[in-house]
Amino acid sequence: MDSLSYIQNADRDLLHTYNRYGVVLEKGRDVYLFDANGKKYLDFASGIAVCALGYGNEEYKAALKEQVDQLLHTSNLYYNAPVIEAAERLKKASGMDRVFFTNSGAEAIEGALKAAKKYAYTRDGHAGHEIIAMQGSFHGRTLGALSVTGNPHYREAFEPLLPGVRFARFNDLESVKEQVSEKTCAILMETVQGEGGIYPAQKEFIEGIAQLCRERDILLILDEIQCGMGRTGRMFAWQHYDVKPDIMASAKALGCGVPVGAFLMTERVAARSLVPGDHGTTYGGNPFVGAAVRTVLEIMERDKIPAHVQSIGAYLWEQLEGLMKRHDCITAHRGMGLMQGLSLSVPVGEVSKQALEKGLILITAGTDVLRFVPPLVIEEEHVDRMVKVLDGILP
Ligand SMILES: *Cc1c(COP(=O)(O)O)cnc(C)c1O
Repeated sequence: MDSLSYIQNADRDLLHTYNRYGVVLEKGRDVYLFDANGKKYLDFASGIAVCALGYGNEEYKAALKEQVDQLLHTSNLYYNAPVIEAAERLKKASGMDRVFFTNSGAEAIEGALKAAKKYAYTRDGHAGHEIIAMQGSFHGRTLGALSVTGNPHYREAFEPLLPGVRFARFNDLESVKEQVSEKTCAILMETVQGEGGIYPAQKEFIEGIAQLCRERDILLILDEIQCGMGRTGRMFAWQHYDVKPDIMASAKALGCGVPVGAFLMTERVAARSLVPGDHGTTYGGNPFVGAAVRTVLEIMERDKIPAHVQSIGAYLWEQLEGLMKRHDCITAHRGMGLMQGLSLSVPVGEVSKQALEKGLILITAGTDVLRFVPPLVIEEEHVDRMVKVLDGILP
């Protein structure tokens, strides 16, 4: 079947929840994708910050194939070795103490919220606690995750959502303090806001929140689903600051394409939080995803991927600064490592469509931001090529 027929069938058969770009992607090699017509694209999106190792990493593929031959699924009624090894590596990379594997980012947030509520319930002997989340945040599409997502547009039709959620302004410590009460059990934020438009937490803000949390026995939950796993030049973005979350959510690049997420916590929280019967998942942390996570972490650590991101991220920063000087339509440049964004005064959707035509995959964030989240293994030549394409598109 040709691309057009596939697209027609998709538009007939799949629920229309996405306005998709009109290409059928078929295979990937290195940092390139190929569509069903054989057209080659340089990828600066990584399937939304997922495919951190690019495409076709031999070691990753071999690990998955071996696990397919071995065993895919057991349920969590039994132990399995790959996920135990994955947990050990994830603990080492994060400095957290306990891991629960999920099937997606949204589920990792759901689990994190439940863990925080249970912690406060155990401490106080009653329920009814509140959570503070940030305006402009994104935490996923399930009802719990949507309840803490600070984007009215995503929420409106699904109200009423989870009660007891208060929103504060990101990077405004006073606005968070205004929302704190005796009932507050957790403050949740992305270390770098992704979907909202690539906004890194300011140092005084995140460190001020961490201090506030310590003083009031409020749990700090950091959503590292997009900004974690090496993307900002450290394994987890909070490692750039003098903070440590009580609970952390991961997903996206955690499996590099295999659907897996996780929420992690410190022993202090774990000791007073979820116990048998409180939470579960049929698939979560099965041997297949375990093998993926274990291998991704192995490769990232051995190949020093975060260090590579620091240098190539700095190069991307310089080149985007240059682009900004040449094009007045670029009004702001933000980000860390290989998670950067440019605010444009021209429609970003149009720019990303034109880029696609020219063989460059670029996505947007918020309403006016061009988002750069390439595979973490890109090199300078790929940055140069991308910038050249944008130079030709931007007015
Ligand atoms: C993508 C994302 C999520 C949701 O992850 P899903 O796997 O799509 O459920 C949550 N938080 C952040 C910061 C994300 O970028």
